[in-house]
Amino acid sequence: MKLSLFNTLTRKREVFNPLDANLVKMYVCGPTVYDHPHIGNARSAVVYDVLYRILMKLYGSSNVLYVRNITDIDDKIIDRASKLNVPISELTRQTIIDYNDDMEYLGCLKPTKEPKATECISQMIDIIQKLLDMGFAYESNKHVYFNVSRAKNYTAFSGRTTEEMRESGRIENDINKNNPEDFVLWKPANEKDDESVKFMSPFGMGRPGWHIECSAMSHTFLGSTFDIHGGGIDLIFPHHTNEIAQSCSAFPGSEYARYWVHNGFLTVDNEKMSKSIGNFITVKDLRDKQIKGDIVRLCLMTAHYRKPLDYNKKALNDAEKMLNYWYRIIGELPLNTEGSTKLDFTDIDIPKIFFDSLLDDLNTPLAIKLINDFAKEFHKTDDYKVKIAAAKKMMYCAQFFGLIRLDCNNWFKGDLDHNSIAQLIQQRTNAKKLKNWQLADQIRSNLLELGIAIEDKHDGTTIWKKVNKG
Ligand SMILES: [Zn+2]
Repeated sequence: MKLSLFNTLTRKREVFNPLDANLVKMYVCGPTVYDHPHIGNARSAVVYDVLYRILMKLYGSSNVLYVRNITDIDDKIIDRASKLNVPISELTRQTIIDYNDDMEYLGCLKPTKEPKATECISQMIDIIQKLLDMGFAYESNKHVYFNVSRAKNYTAFSGRTTEEMRESGRIENDINKNNPEDFVLWKPANEKDDESVKFMSPFGMGRPGWHIECSAMSHTFLGSTFDIHGGGIDLIFPHHTNEIAQSCSAFPGSEYARYWVHNGFLTVDNEKMSKSIGNFITVKDLRDKQIKGDIVRLCLMTAHYRKPLDYNKKALNDAEKMLNYWYRIIGELPLNTEGSTKLDFTDIDIPKIFFDSLLDDLNTPLAIKLINDFAKEFHKTDDYKVKIAAAKKMMYCAQFFGLIRLDCNNWFKGDLDHNSIAQLIQQRTNAKKLKNWQLADQIRSNLLELGIAIEDKHDGTTIWKKVNKG
């Protein structure tokens, strides 16, 4: 069994071979903690969570080292704290708490390590000093810049020419730079800056630039060459391009990341998400609306990770219907639906055909189709043993995906609609016709636990009414 991944570095799908199968190393660019993550950030988190689960299943749960950083020092953080008139440390502390709640809501497992940039300042200073000593960087007006013209193959990763880079609008104008595409490694502190963003360095009091943060944190926890680096497609240039330039210059002979994985854009109602057009959705908005996390998570997995994904009301409704369908099957069977966070990924019993679809560059749309095929298998047969086997396959696959985190009663609590009740009653009627009394009784007792009592009439019909649960 081999995983194949599309590698941005070579622009090819490649068989993934880790440097050390006993310690597979993955780094993913994490949040800049100034505001709530939006649904596009959520997509990225879910994509790498799925990849993390696949790696754990392949190599063993304890043999995968997944590092996702927290950028807790950045101009955006400084600006927002001053706008809100709160201390920077308070803003970042609260945003990290909210971020963790969002991740739990989305069913994302905790990475092995989540280093904060402010905890790795000395490592950043060391790399900047190295780059200065080796002539890859220069000081100018209290700033330190990386000299892009000294980097090997700087344009190769993004495939953009220098002109295209300049026209991208992603290069900061700065009179202190020798060339426009040079980027900042260290910037001086402002007089009015909060003490928590001022750090002493050989280049003066100040703070690091964003790109050097990821180079230093990945080096600290994963070494100079590691297996996988992930992030959104918008990070290819300049962020990842600059990470490669810094790290490969500071550590000669290192490859930095060997496989680069990038997830596609997310649009909302077919438009780019933006605060100005009012289609900006945060994970917190969804939580506040009490939309179940499984629904959002499934919705975000319906497109292949490299393709664009459109988030809209219909996509969300479709995901909800699908989950209701799966939960109804589980509700008919005496299965244990303990939360997926407790699963051991090495031992979890999922069909080969399902795992193969994920090994094929994370083909989640096909994997979801297979889960639905198992659900169909359940309905096609009257053989109870075959039914149980199909339901188990369906449930384990969904749980491997981080779904089906609730038990059936909690899932349907409060929102069992008339349609679902009618369907369950129909299933019970069918079971009775086939003299499957065990199943018929199971459906009756499941409905009762959900607060629905049923009564069989002499004419063969069944009526239902709401009663107190339990
Ligand atoms: Zn990064």
